[in-house]
Amino acid sequence: MIEINDIRKSYGDKRAVDGISFKVNEGEILGFLGPNGAGKSTTLNIITGYLSADSGVAKIDGTDILAEPIKAKKDIGFLPEIPPLYLEMTVLEYLNFVYDLNGCKLPRKQHLKEICEVVKIWDVGHRLIKNLSKGYRQRVGIAQALIGNPKVLIFDEPTIGLDPRQIIEIRNLIKMLGREHTIILSTHILPEVQAVCDRIVVINKGKIVADEKTEDLINAVDGSRKLVAKIVGPEDEVLKALRSIGGMKSADVIGKRDTDSVSYLLESEDRIDIRKPLFYTLSSKGWPLIGLEGVELSLEDIFIRLVGKEKEKETAKKLKRGVK
Ligand code: ADP
Repeated sequence: MIEINDIRKSYGDKRAVDGISFKVNEGEILGFLGPNGAGKSTTLNIITGYLSADSGVAKIDGTDILAEPIKAKKDIGFLPEIPPLYLEMTVLEYLNFVYDLNGCKLPRKQHLKEICEVVKIWDVGHRLIKNLSKGYRQRVGIAQALIGNPKVLIFDEPTIGLDPRQIIEIRNLIKMLGREHTIILSTHILPEVQAVCDRIVVINKGKIVADEKTEDLINAVDGSRKLVAKIVGPEDEVLKALRSIGGMKSADVIGKRDTDSVSYLLESEDRIDIRKPLFYTLSSKGWPLIGLEGVELSLEDIFIRLVGKEKEKETAKKLKRGVK
């Protein structure tokens, strides 16, 4: 549904996008991630036809966005990081305005009502946008992207600045829209990607560093898992036993909150699940395990590991070629 091939873009002598290629299949929700300045917005602006690439091709449902921009743009709904809302208009005035601007041909009243019902803004249709909460404004932003019923939706940081309840609502809305649309979601937030996306493309310095199914990527990067275990038992002996478990990389005390239990940070070797041997070891000694939690990786950890892996690969290639 979306196909971009070897896209390049420089601003002066600053290369922002340096040969990016990927596809998004019909009905897929793709997470598009990368640190600040990685080239995400530039890529999204090229896909949506707001910016032209120096070279490379971007196609939406087979239509080249540069060769046939009007046709390709009809298939794209875009929610930029800062949605272009007119604050002095009511919600319905604004949606009618976008409807005209897009030259939408669908039955006006019915189409706009359907959209308002899907994003749950029908009850605020006659209110001025400036008087709406941030969460409702974001829904209006999503509504304008849905006008014309485009096959592809592109969301740039859709939950930034929202409160936790609004974040969950918008994520659920995006998931629901994913049943009918192909979606690219650009975000900084790892749980958001895990909750919503089927696949992830990670870019750094204008290049792709990973393109994998969400689960595979998280598992690949998170090879050595960290756990916090709360155990009742004599600290020194527990530590010794923990360190003797096969596949345990490290075990350290991190806290003693209760009188009789101690918290330990455990790190396993790559791809080894130590939970079962941990349980058997502790139960054979009669030391109760009263808590076990995984330590979540942040998006920053993932970037650092992915970028680290890229550097290792580059160094290995250079060594192979005999370059110092
Ligand atoms: P991201 O969205 O991942 O933060 P951008 O696509 O906005 O990244 O930017 C990629 C790089 O291009 C950054 O180094 C940024 O400073 C630079 N850049 C973006 N827009 C412009 C512009 N209009 N003029 C000059 N440099 C730009």
